[in-house]
Amino acid sequence: MQDLMKGKRGLVMGVANDHSIAWGIARKLAAQGAELAFTYQGDAFGRRVKPLAESLGASLVLPCDVEDTASMDAVFGALKDEWGGMDFLVHAIGFSDKNELKGRYADTTRDNFVRTMVISCFSFTEVARRAAELMSGGGSLLTLTYAGSVRVMPNYNVMGVAKAGLEASVRYLANDFGPSGIRVNALSAGPVRTLAGAGIADARHMFAYQARNAPLRRTVDIDEIGGSALYLLSDLASGVTGEVHYVDSGYHIVSMPALDELKK
Ligand code: NAD
Repeated sequence: MQDLMKGKRGLVMGVANDHSIAWGIARKLAAQGAELAFTYQGDAFGRRVKPLAESLGASLVLPCDVEDTASMDAVFGALKDEWGGMDFLVHAIGFSDKNELKGRYADTTRDNFVRTMVISCFSFTEVARRAAELMSGGGSLLTLTYAGSVRVMPNYNVMGVAKAGLEASVRYLANDFGPSGIRVNALSAGPVRTLAGAGIADARHMFAYQARNAPLRRTVDIDEIGGSALYLLSDLASGVTGEVHYVDSGYHIVSMPALDELKK
């Protein structure tokens, strides 16, 4: 299948480097003809993101820190000036203090709880509202979540609580924007070795455990996550909204370790 995204324009938020999930998604979208804009968080990331964005022929590459509402306004203002409207948005942003991505959830501080919620959960609502204003012909919004939202994963702690809120936001936003033909979905990705992933204590054990015990007996890569994103962002998924779609080699369906692993 070719040119699934031809004539569609959208913003990708959350590329930090070429290991980022957002980068895997951007490559798939560009390969199918999408016109892309990117944001980056601060100058240090900007130096990495600009050449990547240029390699996909990006129209705009702009700074954006989702803790700063003025920077979000500036991004969507620039998109309106450049494109007039847009068709899709990818939100692949998450953050929590790594000192609290270990130990007990019960010990989460108020400051980090609020900051984690603002960056990892509420920022999707904030950018979704701005993007929807530019989607007069309908559109598709996508965020990234993790199964720590619905089940306890060691050390994921406050991020799990933020992802639960993010998944609930997907459903409420889908209902708000549905009458305007705007779809809202999340991909729940299995563990991937990225900067954000490395912030979780003992992440390598989670990675290895899921690789051994998922039905497919492996983890997923950013190209596979990109393929699922392409489906949800393209017209192939025109009847799908409010969905949390797992791309995790099936890990979320199992309730105990694989027998072949236990018998080793
Ligand atoms: P990553 O480190 O490559 O990307 C995280 C991005 O969040 C970075 O680009 C960073 O700049 C951005 N960010 C953080 N705080 C920000 C702020 N205040 N303003 C703007 N941007 C900010 O890691 P990733 O794993 O590709 O993460 C992307 C998304 O995927 C996150 O929501 C993450 O929770 C989710 N996710 C990751 C995994 C995994 O195992 N890596 C699994 C499931 C879901």
